[in-house]
Amino acid sequence: MSSPNAESTAFRSALEVIRAVEPRVADAIGAELADQRESLKLIASENYASPATLLAMGNWFSDKYAEGTVGRRFYAGCQNVDTVEALAAEHAKELFGAAHAYVQPHSGIDANLVAFWAVLADRVEAPALKKAQARHVNDLTEEDWFTLRRELGNQRMLGMSLDAGGHLTHGFRPNISGKMFDQRSYGTDPVTGLVDYDKVAEAAREFKPMILVAGYSAYPRKVNFRIMREIADSVGATFMVDMAHFAGLVAGKVFTGDFDPVPHAHIVTTTTHKSLRGPRGGMVLCGPELADQVDRGCPMVLGGPLPHVMAAKAVALAEARRPDFADYAQRIVDNAQALAEGLLRRGAKLVTDGTDNHLVLIDVSGYGLTGRQAEQALLDSGIVTNRNSVPQDPNGAWYTSGIRIGTPALTTRGLGVAEMDATAELIHTVLNQTVSGSNADGTPSKAKYVLEPALADKVSHQAAELLSAFPLYPSVTLS
Ligand SMILES: *Cc1c(COP(=O)(O)O)cnc(C)c1O
Repeated sequence: MSSPNAESTAFRSALEVIRAVEPRVADAIGAELADQRESLKLIASENYASPATLLAMGNWFSDKYAEGTVGRRFYAGCQNVDTVEALAAEHAKELFGAAHAYVQPHSGIDANLVAFWAVLADRVEAPALKKAQARHVNDLTEEDWFTLRRELGNQRMLGMSLDAGGHLTHGFRPNISGKMFDQRSYGTDPVTGLVDYDKVAEAAREFKPMILVAGYSAYPRKVNFRIMREIADSVGATFMVDMAHFAGLVAGKVFTGDFDPVPHAHIVTTTTHKSLRGPRGGMVLCGPELADQVDRGCPMVLGGPLPHVMAAKAVALAEARRPDFADYAQRIVDNAQALAEGLLRRGAKLVTDGTDNHLVLIDVSGYGLTGRQAEQALLDSGIVTNRNSVPQDPNGAWYTSGIRIGTPALTTRGLGVAEMDATAELIHTVLNQTVSGSNADGTPSKAKYVLEPALADKVSHQAAELLSAFPLYPSVTLS
């Protein structure tokens, strides 16, 4: 480890240099650290990257164009970008046991775009080229192109429904995947809240998707990827897993065997900044069959790679290969389970009655609130969460009936199971004391609520006190 002194000096000097040009940016960066230090961050998709990861992003790599892949660039002078891209890919392959890793995607959505287009190119474009007796896209006739465009745009995707915890990019309207693909979704069992594999198999048999997608942003349980692969195979679908949320649990070997997506999926996508604790970015893992198509992500759907972020990915992935990352991953789940138990004991209603992973979904209708009211009341009390739909949500995707909470960030800070019980007490206290409000005309509001400011204040102080024993970036002092 570097000396704490070096970390402080690095960030202080960086701010001094920025301050000389635009002091308001330096101030905002400092304020962001202060805010993050003070808030009880339970947003399931956020984390705190290491100083080394953060520092790897602020440098000359940002100036380089490097379209292409390692050793095959469309720009000259990419030898150092080659070094960091190859390192990031190597660490990713070793960490996840994958045959191929593509570390250029700029975000999770970009990783999914690369994966979708790689599969479409493999399964639609390649056979169409053959059928047209063409060796290259340039050999296609106008009519071939027309057919190709029509087929590229009308393939079938089966993914988890949004309100069961799936992601927008798995075929939902606001995302291009929902416009291009003919999409259908599988939900969860209305009683248990769990994925019903028989129902997934039935939907697959009826719908015959080209791509079966597993993965989620708001499902608090494990998914059996071996069974999902069998379902995909039974209908000739390509099996894709989007592990954006739980990649850290895969990296830390908490999800193994049937629950490790890498040996079971044809293609795996992820973010690098959620439980994996790296820089903001994405990544695609696959076997040799799809590797060439995946490597065409740029320029197919991505702009030039971000070499500074790939450098930070290499640093974060090196960190994730150390034994203490496995400890971290296990503590994420221990903490989520302690939080769930603490909430259940106090009478909260949870989707699936608990958790096997890093997140807990509270059904706040049990407190007579919408997700929007609950989210805001918690925020007033110094607790940062986000509202989220619950299965068959009567309040839709805007107001919702759920609060999603996750433990990757607080676990990085060092909080443990005792603090999770204290956190459960704070959350329950706020939600229990918040009352749904009404509109001016007396009708019930889905947004307004009443919470005694004195109580919000008291909980804010308790949250700050809980955090004070676990300073964030203890090695960094900015003044
Ligand atoms: C967060 C998330 C994404 C999108 O990641 P971005 O980096 O925000 O683009 C994609 N899929 C799933 C399942 C996610 O949870």
